[in-house]
Amino acid sequence: MFDTIQSGLIDRRKFLAFAAGSTALVAAAPAARAAKVKTSARIVILGAGAAGTALANRLVDRLDGARITLVDPRKQHLYQPGFTLIAAGLKPASYSVSDTGHWLPGGIDWIQEAAAEIDPEAKKVVTSGGRTLEYDYLVVAAGLSLDYGAIEGMSLDLIGTNGIGSVYAGPDYAAKTWQEMDRFTDKGGVALFTRPATEMKCAGAPLKYTFLTDDYAVRKGTRGKTKIVYAAHAKALFSVPIVNEKVRMLFGERGFDVVHDHVMTAIDSGRKIATFNTPDGPKEIGYDFTNVIPPMKAPDVVRNSPLPWTTGPWSDQGWVEVDRHSMRHVRYPEVFAVGDIAGVPKGKTAASVKWQVPVVEEQLVAQIEGKTSDARYDGYTSCPLITRVGRAMLIEFDYKDNLTPSFPGVIAPLEELWVSWLMKEIALKATYNAMLRGRA
Ligand SMILES: Cc1cc2nc3c(=O)[nH]c(=O)nc-3n(C[C@H](O)[C@H](O)[C@H](O)COP(=O)(O)OP(=O)(O)OC[C@H]3O[C@@H](n4cnc5c(N)ncnc54)[C@H](O)[C@@H]3O)c2cc1C
Repeated sequence: MFDTIQSGLIDRRKFLAFAAGSTALVAAAPAARAAKVKTSARIVILGAGAAGTALANRLVDRLDGARITLVDPRKQHLYQPGFTLIAAGLKPASYSVSDTGHWLPGGIDWIQEAAAEIDPEAKKVVTSGGRTLEYDYLVVAAGLSLDYGAIEGMSLDLIGTNGIGSVYAGPDYAAKTWQEMDRFTDKGGVALFTRPATEMKCAGAPLKYTFLTDDYAVRKGTRGKTKIVYAAHAKALFSVPIVNEKVRMLFGERGFDVVHDHVMTAIDSGRKIATFNTPDGPKEIGYDFTNVIPPMKAPDVVRNSPLPWTTGPWSDQGWVEVDRHSMRHVRYPEVFAVGDIAGVPKGKTAASVKWQVPVVEEQLVAQIEGKTSDARYDGYTSCPLITRVGRAMLIEFDYKDNLTPSFPGVIAPLEELWVSWLMKEIALKATYNAMLRGRA
C-alpha cells in the first residue's frame, strides 16, 4: 500500500520543487520594520500553541522593554494538522511533536503552569501554582478543550480498541486510530462518521477522514463489503453553500449514506452502537469502525471568567467575546483573543491563526503607542479537504463565505488536485513552522 503511495510521491518531484518554492516565499523573512517601540508594558499571553507562540515571537521583534509572560504548562508543541496524516498511516506520531521551548523567543518569561483564574477587572491572572500575574495587556490564546465526557460511554482509553478511533485526541491517539482504520479496511463492515454540534477546529477534518477511509477500502479491494455512513449534525455537510454542494456531490458519487440532524450523544463500545439525538428522538446506529469527534468548548479557565459571550449561539461554549475584525475584547479593551479560543464566526484553523496574529500584533502595538490601527481580520480560513490519498481540494473562504483562493487561476478550489494535497498536507508544515517563528 505505502509503496504505491510513495512511488506516486517520487514521480512528482517537480511538484515538490514547486511546493518548496512556494513555501519559501511564504516563509521569507519579513520586510524591514520600523524601529522598535519602547515600552514597559506588561503583556501576559495565555497559551503557547500556534497562536501564542507566533504572537510572542512577533511582539519581541516589535517592542523594546516590554515584559512578556507566556503561561502554558505544556512542554510539547503539537502540530495538529499532522494528526490526519498520522491517522492515515502516512506519518508516525512523532511527526506532530516538538518541544515548546524550541519555538519561544529569548527575552520572555515562560511560566510552565496553567492559568487558573482570569480577573479582567483587576487585570490579573492567577496560575495553577498560585502566582498572581498583573498585566497591562492580556492575550488569550488557550485553544479549546475536547469534551469527550459529553459523550456518554466514551473515554480516551477506548481509542484504539473495538473499532473506535479519534483523530482529534493527540498524535498517539491518531496513530491508534490508524491501527483501527487499517484493521477495518482489511475486511470491511460499517464505518460511521460524525461531527459535533458545537463550534469545532478544522471543520473539514471529519469529512477528510470519511474520504480517506473510503479510499483505503477501495485500494484494498474491500469497498464492496463496506458501508460508509456519515451522520451530519445539521442539514448541511459544510457551512459554505458552494462547498456543501460539492461535498454532497462527491459523497453521492462515492456511495456514502448520509443522515442529517444527527448528533452523537452516547457510545456503547461493547455492542458497537452509537446513539444520536435527532429531531425524531434518540436513534441508534451500529458500526464496525468509527472516528469519534467530541464536542468542543473553551477551556474552563476562560469559560469561568467574565470574558466569554453571554448571549447568542455560543453562550454555552465559552468563546471569548471579541470584535471579529480587531480581535479585541468588546468589554475589556486591553484584552485580545486569538486562535481557536476567539469567539468569531469563522476560523479555528492554523491558517486563521496565521492571519489573526499580525492583526493582534498591530492593534496591540498601536494601543501601546496611544494610536489606533486599521489592521483587520476578515475571517480568512482554509480547509484542505483531502478526498483521497494524494488528492485534495484547497478550500479557502472568509466571513462572507466568499472563496478566497491563494493561487487564483492556478489552483481551482473545488477540484480534487494533487497539487492541493501537496500544498496543504505536505508543504503546510514548513509554513506553519515559519508562522511559529513570527515569519509568516
Ligand atoms: C485533527 C486536526 C486537523 C487539523 N487540520 C488543520 C489543517 O489542515 N489546517 C489548519 O490550518 N488547521 C488545522 N487544524 C487546526 C489547528 O491545528 C488549530 O486551529 C490551531 O492549532 C489553533 O491554535 P491555537 O494556538 O489557538 O491553539 P493550540 O495550538 O491548540 O494551543 C493552545 C495552547 O493553550 C494551552 N492552554 C490550554 N489551557 C491553558 C491554560 N489554562 N493556561 C495556559 N495555557 C493553556 C495548551 O496547552 C496549548 O498549548 C487541525 C486540528 C486538528 C485537531
